[in-house]
Amino acid sequence: MKILVVEDEKKVASFIKKGLEEEYYSVDAAFDGKEGLKLALNEEYDLIILDLMLPYKDGISILKEIRNEKIFTPVLILTARDTVQDKVKGLDTGADDYLSKPFSFEELLARIRALLRRNSLEKNNYLQAGDLKLDIENHKIFRNDVEIILTPKEFAVLEYLLRNKNRVISRTKLSEHIYEFHFDPETNVIDVFINKLRNKVDKGFEKQIIQTVRGVGYLIKDD
Ligand code: CA
Repeated sequence: MKILVVEDEKKVASFIKKGLEEEYYSVDAAFDGKEGLKLALNEEYDLIILDLMLPYKDGISILKEIRNEKIFTPVLILTARDTVQDKVKGLDTGADDYLSKPFSFEELLARIRALLRRNSLEKNNYLQAGDLKLDIENHKIFRNDVEIILTPKEFAVLEYLLRNKNRVISRTKLSEHIYEFHFDPETNVIDVFINKLRNKVDKGFEKQIIQTVRGVGYLIKDD
């Protein structure tokens, strides 16, 4: 997932960039409106985080121009201007969400995840990697059009990995996703779980969908 951050306060921009990169997003940062617009028009992003008060070109103008160009990348406005009027104007111009400064990074992350999820759901009802297809609505998994039966937990984990395709998901993250209680990362519970899942999903196939990143976690790659 690639994100563009348009923010003229360099400290804030680099804080966001660093934080998002730690969450395995790839991030471009632009420090003024002109550069931001240029990147938004010429590069492909999954999401744009947009400040409103920017040198050379303000956020609302950028938003107008990219929507005029039929670029419908989700836009999250992040700004200190948080009057109701500002919010309404931003959303009416085509922003998808709005977060006021100062903000909590956790909340920013949650909003980003929600926007990305919404965007991928609108495109289609399937998540895919190679010949593996997950039917989100009907909770079914297919490989080469043959159905694979999974437990709900296995399904949830596979869905989570697929939604985060091309990002390495740490064992800790995965355990937080599977178990509500705090689990001891020293145990091999997650590895055992993944092995079972793999037996159902990958066994007998040449291409292994679920990949192990040694010492870090697991990954599903898009190829
Ligand atoms: Ca600003």
